[in-house]
Amino acid sequence: MTSFNLRQVKLRPGEEFRDELEVELPAFEFGGQRYLPVPERIPAELVVTRATTGTVFALAFTARLHGPCYRCLGDAVLEVPISAREYQASSPDDEELTTPYVQADQLDVSGWARDAVALALPDKILCRPECAGLCPECGKNLNEEPHVHEEEHGDPRWAALETLKDGLG
Ligand SMILES: [Zn+2]
Ligand SMILES: [Zn+2]
Repeated sequence: MTSFNLRQVKLRPGEEFRDELEVELPAFEFGGQRYLPVPERIPAELVVTRATTGTVFALAFTARLHGPCYRCLGDAVLEVPISAREYQASSPDDEELTTPYVQADQLDVSGWARDAVALALPDKILCRPECAGLCPECGKNLNEEPHVHEEEHGDPRWAALETLKDGLG
């Protein structure tokens, strides 16, 4: 867990504080698969800016996740650039003006980073944008062995179901 003690930062309105942190990321569950951050701890830049009515937090880093490709189940590496912002009002009357990541003067950098990565994930994690996937007939990897099957014994009802599944996935 990476957290940042806000008591160590004394800022006047208009002033900002920058720090290089190491953020620890968890493994991500996505589409029933597991994606591991490599490395687990990554350098991040935190900028705390004091405004007249509150504090602005900005966090920037690039996460790299390893896991199976959605289509061919081969290795996929995904780079996720993150640039996130949060705001905390000095005297918050309004829930919307507070960030859930600040509790008792501690900024939960890990929790914030994890949520930012989860929100930034694409619909499908692929080994490459044009991944051909696995052959629906024989299960072979179509990237390594591009082929088509001569015999057509597709049932149109199955085809319709596959289209529906693709739309959901
Ligand atoms: Zn693939
Ligand atoms: Zn095949």
